[in-house]
Amino acid sequence: MDIALVGIGKIAVDQHVPSIAASPDWDLTATVSRQGSVEGVPAFDDFDRMLEENPGIRVVSLCLPPVPRFDFAARALKAGRHVMLEKPPGATLSECGELENLARAQGLSLFATWHSREADKVDAAKAWLADKTLRSLTVTWREDVRRWHPGQDWIFEPGGLGVFDPGINALSIVTKILPVPIHLASAVLRIPENRQAPIAAALSFAHPGGARVACEFDFRQEGEQTWTIEAVCDEGTLLLTHGGGQMYIDGQPTGETEVGLAGEYPRLYAAMAALVRKGGIDMDLSPMRHVADAFLLGRRETVAPFDF
Ligand code: NAP
Repeated sequence: MDIALVGIGKIAVDQHVPSIAASPDWDLTATVSRQGSVEGVPAFDDFDRMLEENPGIRVVSLCLPPVPRFDFAARALKAGRHVMLEKPPGATLSECGELENLARAQGLSLFATWHSREADKVDAAKAWLADKTLRSLTVTWREDVRRWHPGQDWIFEPGGLGVFDPGINALSIVTKILPVPIHLASAVLRIPENRQAPIAAALSFAHPGGARVACEFDFRQEGEQTWTIEAVCDEGTLLLTHGGGQMYIDGQPTGETEVGLAGEYPRLYAAMAALVRKGGIDMDLSPMRHVADAFLLGRRETVAPFDF
């Protein structure tokens, strides 16, 4: 299937382009970006012109930051194209709902991707937790924003989510592996005095069984990076590390460790191909709802200014 990529920046180059190139399902037929391009692929800087001149491109994958993404997604759907959205699926919940309505009215596929849900051990963690009695779940997501988002000022602008840009990845895993829904009980948002979005956050959730559920997100972590989820249950303890790339049960590793995002994006593109073939919409907004709730309920603390 012919596909166009829009927003040729860090994640497009790191993951989308190689995943599409390695897939038997997809041919990268056009890119749309103001500055970026991919060698050997026709490059456009005008999205509507790309759509007009390429009626054979049925699928558009949007790798832009969340704030500018809605406009491109709506135009693609109105032009009869299936759409794949980077995470988070939009800047607001309402605009995501509008995209879903538009896709449904047009009979098109719309996929709100959550790449961390595709991490290697996430399905196994879900299966293990399905029949366990949870006592506590602790998420620790600590990374260095300068290393992973060099110079990306948009991340600290309104709609950029700040530390929730990676934190929503953890929440996408939590909402997949827990067999019951949780809801936010309290949050602290630590916002640099020269920025609009938090650089660190602490969340606690109400769990229907009374388990203690807490998340600690921090963008200021130098040196070793930590992306772990620990679930203590009556029957044993599950630990996910490497953002879901490794799982331990009572300290014992379960298979090889998958490091980085390498397996995640090929699985997302395989899922998109299946969705388009079968028809339908995959738009789970639960990770984003928790982030929106943190912004609704969170207590703000002003912290030291941050510059890249
Ligand atoms: P990025 O490199 O800063 O931006 C991607 C591209 O979007 C830019 O190169 C730019 O291309 C275009 N763009 C930026 N602002 C725009 C605007 N206002 N209007 C139109 N185009 C604009 O960001 P990224 O790191 O790739 O992240 C993009 C999305 O992927 C985010 O939602 C992020 O959460 C997600 N993601 C990122 C990572 C990561 O490691 N960075 C990992 C997983 C998911 P042109 O200037 O050429 O137009």
